[in-house]
Formats: sequence, structure tokens, C-alpha cells
Amino acid sequence: MNNYRATLSGLVSSLLCLFLFQSASAQEQLTVLQGARLILGDGSVLEQTDLAIQNGAIVSVGNVNAAGAEIIDLRGKTVLPALIDAHAHLGYEAATGWGAENYSVENLIDNLQRYAYYGFAAVFSAGSDPAPVAQALQADFDNGDYLGARMLFAAGMAPPGQGPNNQFLTEALAVENQYDTQILYGLEDAATAQATVAQLANDDVHFLKLWVDDRGGTQRKLTPAIYRAVATTADQYDMRVFVHQQNADDMADLINAGVHGFLHGRLGDDFGLPLARQLADANVFVVPNLGLAELRRQAIGDDAFLQQTMTSVAAAQLGSEVATRQADFTPDASQDAALSQSLAAMLNAGADIVLGTDAGAVPGHPFGYTGHRELEIYVRLGMTPMQALVAGTSNAARHLGLDENGLLAPGYRADLLILDANPLDDIRNTQQIDRVYIGGKIIERSQLRSEWTRIQAQ
Ligand SMILES: [Zn+2]
Repeated sequence: MNNYRATLSGLVSSLLCLFLFQSASAQEQLTVLQGARLILGDGSVLEQTDLAIQNGAIVSVGNVNAAGAEIIDLRGKTVLPALIDAHAHLGYEAATGWGAENYSVENLIDNLQRYAYYGFAAVFSAGSDPAPVAQALQADFDNGDYLGARMLFAAGMAPPGQGPNNQFLTEALAVENQYDTQILYGLEDAATAQATVAQLANDDVHFLKLWVDDRGGTQRKLTPAIYRAVATTADQYDMRVFVHQQNADDMADLINAGVHGFLHGRLGDDFGLPLARQLADANVFVVPNLGLAELRRQAIGDDAFLQQTMTSVAAAQLGSEVATRQADFTPDASQDAALSQSLAAMLNAGADIVLGTDAGAVPGHPFGYTGHRELEIYVRLGMTPMQALVAGTSNAARHLGLDENGLLAPGYRADLLILDANPLDDIRNTQQIDRVYIGGKIIERSQLRSEWTRIQAQ
């Protein structure tokens, strides 16, 4: 409750900031990022091209009039739109561990700053947040009260008392108690579903997350009659419905019901060209979500890219000293072949693949870092680096309704990921981060890094 109140008082002071910002922003100097390779986010690239930003937005690409501007020489570097993670769970993971006790405005901001550190502009937190807290944080972001990634959130829906995996369910219910508000909305029948969606629309909630999964027989699975009622009612209010589904067999009927996206791919043998065509025809996206299974078996704590944002003690807990984590992880070849076929089917059919990680859903699946590793998996499975980057930029922005994100084009936000090496040569070059801008402001990465890697004295 203290944290919630802190945000409300932050809101009052941010109103004052808004007036200051508006008067200052009119004279903000033009900044020209000169001579970089620009990966635009739509699948195209421009070599040695200038990009001008002002007042937090991109004002021109190429043909820049640099008179009176601040010039930043970016020759040899690559600029792309900052990435977007379309499936995460913010608030539960902290430097000290994972669970409901960490859920606070301060920890949400920490998580969003980790995303910004790793070059992410926005994060969709999938059905595990109290709406009043998330909405207060969104107001903070809009007012410039914190510098980090933007948070999007959804109301969670499942049969009463069901939804996330059983470990996560316990923690989400604890956060509900902590904030005396609802995160998970139990749907008993179609009439309840209609009334609940209408109420959420009235509460200015824009996204719904459905769990359609019996969790190996331990939970009740949401019925088609109920998810139809959700999708139909959501359509009346222009809300988007994203689904955690148990398997590929559930997807065809969910698409027919009118959902907008799937947060787990369930790629593999049951996921072929007919389903890919149905997805493309209905403009429904898929988050493949492949790293969640794989990275838990890897000694990611040994990775210098992750060590940038953790203490050595915390990194060791995810490293090769842990018996279940392998330093020399080799993916299963036959499983990779099946996943590759599903991805190829989607690309051939023109279905939209969107980057998402499920970061924060389980302990030790870190924010931001996992997004870069997910891109690496896409390329291993046959996507081109450009296709992977489109999944993490314009595709994600479009399906999340982020009209000012995902492209380098005039009028878009100056949310920029600037790299020292070309990710089109090797997708792992997304990890060679030179600097990050969010809303035209530099993320102080070295300062964040020193805070996060410092061992606190007891
Ligand atoms: Zn999830």
C-alpha cells in the first residue's frame, strides 16, 4: 500500500514536471545521429544515413538539415528501433529472488530499467498485475517520472481460482491481497465473461490475457463458450485478447472465436501450414516463446552479457555450478527441425511472428537479456536476422497498438538501440550495445550497471 501511495504522490509532482517539460521542450535542440547503418524495422536497411531527433521523436531520416544541431558521429554503428518484448511478467523478479513480496512500484521500475538497459522500449506484462498499479505506472511513464521501458499490461482471465502455473498462481493471489485489488478474473460462464469484459473496458483496461490450459490436469480449462464470449465482447470495446493456450490443437478454434494473438507458439509437429495460413488470414500473431524451455537448462550466469546486470553472487546461481544448467548446451536436433518447420510455415504463409520471452514468469529468466537470446534462437531455427529483428520491432509494435514504436520513421518515438556491430551479419551482435535512447533521452547504462553489480554490504 505504501508503494501505491508513493506513486500517487509521484503523480502530483509529475503534473508540475509536465508544465516544466512542455515549456522546455519547445526549444529542445535538434540532434543528428550521423552516418550510421539504419535498420528501419520494416525489413529494410539504409547504409550511412543520418537520423535527426528532437523532443523525443524522430524528425527525419536521410536528407537532414544539420544547421545548428548537435552532431553525434555514428559512422560504423548500427541503429534500430528499440526492441519490444510482447510477453513478460513484471514485478515478481528482483535482485534478491522471485515472488509476490517483491511486487512494488519500485521493483516494476527496476524491471523496466533493466529492459531499457538491454535496448527495449516496451514490455507487455501478461495478466499478472493489479490494474490500478500498472495504470499509475503508465501515467508516470507518460509524465517522464522514470526513464525506462513502457509497461503494457492485461487483465488475466481463467476459470475461478485458475490461470497461471500453480507456483505463479499462489504469488499472483498474494499480490491481489497485498493491493486489495484484482489481477485474475474468474469466469464461471459466458454471462460472467461478458459482464467482466465490459467492466474492465469501463476501467480503461485495453488488453485481456486468457489462460486456456488445464496445467496437466491440475486446473480447469477455460471452455470455448466462455472464450467466445470474451472475444466477442472485447471486440465491441476494441480490446485485444491474447492467449496462453495449451497446445496447437486449441489454436484453430481460438482464432475462429476472434482472439488477436498467442503468447506461446506451441510450434512443432502439430503446427503446420494450414494453421499458419489461418493465422495469416485472421491477422493473428504468434510469440514462439522458445527460450523459456531452453535457457533454463543453460549456464546463462556464465554469460558476460547477463553478468553486466547482476552481482557475481546472483550470476553464480544461474551458472555452471548449478547441476541442472549446462555450460555446453546443445539443442536437440530433431526438436529443432520440427520448430524450424513451423517457423518456416508461418513465414511462408505471411503470419506475424512477434518477439516475447515470458521473462519474470519463473525465477531466473531475466528481463531484457532473454529477448536477445530469443532472437538468437529464431536465427538458429532458420529465420534471417532481419526477420528476427522485424519480429522484435514493427511486428510487436503493431500488434500491441504502439503506433509510435517499432520503426525508424519521422513521427515515431526516438526509442533507439545503437549497436557497435551489424546484427544482419550475426544476430548476436544485438548484444554489442553502444547506447540506448528512450524518448530521445540516453539511458545511463554504466550507472545502472554499477548499481546492479554492486554487492550490498549487510
Ligand atoms: Zn506468461
